[in-house]
Amino acid sequence: MLEKTIKPYVLSDHAESDIRDRWQRPLHDLRISVMDRCNFRCPYCMPEDKYHKNFEFLGTSQRLSFEEILRLTRIFTGMGVRKLRLTGGEPLLRTNLPDLIGDLSRIEQIEDIALTTNGVLLAQQASALKAAGLHRVTVSLDALDDKAFAVMSGGRGNKDRVLEGIEEAIAAGLTPIKINTVLQRGVNEDEALKLVRHFRGTGVIVRFIEYMDVGTINHWQLSETISSRELVEKIRAEWPIQPVARNYHGEVAVRYQFDDGQGELGFVSSVTDPFCGACTRARLSSDGRLFTCLFASEGLDLRTPLRAGASDEDLQAMIRGCWQDREDRYSEQRADQTNSRKKVEMYYIGG
Ligand code: SAM
Ligand code: SF4
Ligand code: SF4
Repeated sequence: MLEKTIKPYVLSDHAESDIRDRWQRPLHDLRISVMDRCNFRCPYCMPEDKYHKNFEFLGTSQRLSFEEILRLTRIFTGMGVRKLRLTGGEPLLRTNLPDLIGDLSRIEQIEDIALTTNGVLLAQQASALKAAGLHRVTVSLDALDDKAFAVMSGGRGNKDRVLEGIEEAIAAGLTPIKINTVLQRGVNEDEALKLVRHFRGTGVIVRFIEYMDVGTINHWQLSETISSRELVEKIRAEWPIQPVARNYHGEVAVRYQFDDGQGELGFVSSVTDPFCGACTRARLSSDGRLFTCLFASEGLDLRTPLRAGASDEDLQAMIRGCWQDREDRYSEQRADQTNSRKKVEMYYIGG
């Protein structure tokens, strides 16, 4: 039922990228996980029973240093990368993150630097992040009700701190601010309308991300995913909304605007309406592995050659070869594979 054929990439887009994968998709975006640890234990991402106090996360020396991240990013920009997103784990747990952002923002080819965070440490860091050169933040928020928030964050954090973080991010100009909301049927589905009501008219864009079978530890079942179509109908019953054109080719969210001019919503339908044909994203884990798909089994180790003295040309050749061999289109083949293959976990690879 979920099997689809890949939609071809529009070749005229991202003409500056000189490499294409096997489906003719260019390399345009790099998501950098700066930290594998997290201060939340969202059950669908890092359940407490697996990521307990004795779990061995990466040590400082195993994580790429800022210099190493910067060097790799420069090499990626030489191959067409123009957009960066810093993620994790929780990226705001990485010490001195504004220093890295400052260095990344000085790379001439970079047009956009965004960050995805659970928001709990955002209030105290927003202005320093902006001053360093960060353009935008996306804050993950799955519930407004305190009990539902506790369930979705694994009993960590505090909704009010997240809302304060959003306020401070607005004040600092890290806009447009997007909220990432994952709904699980029977768990936090009642939070959808509350979140829409809360952010309507504020300029903050709520984006509903279909709950996905990333990794294996969440024991995902299709029945737990609430489709964007179902959600659009539910929201429409309360506030009339209409679809609007994508901002750019390859935008993953389908946009809707309120008829009364009170802003917009986004729907990311990775499960029910996959967009692999337009997927131009590479992901770098905090220990320097390159992943070409959120659902990959393995990543290409760049840290070992980097630390063994590889030249920029050597590293570029490795990355180029990896991208040119890329055939990933997991979401379009999901029905065949979800339970049958090894998959990297979301907290490790970044969202
Ligand atoms: N800790 C940060 C945060 O939560 O924003 C950044 C990393 S987190 C892995 C990035 C995004 O992935 C979050 O918005 C989270 O909700 C989303 N995510 C994690 N597991 C998911 C899943 N199984 N399906 C859909 N989205 C998921
Ligand atoms: Fe942490 Fe983000 Fe995963 Fe939640 S979704 S456990 S905040 S990395
Ligand atoms: Fe990209 Fe893989 Fe997601 Fe398809 S499944 S959109 S290839 S990350």
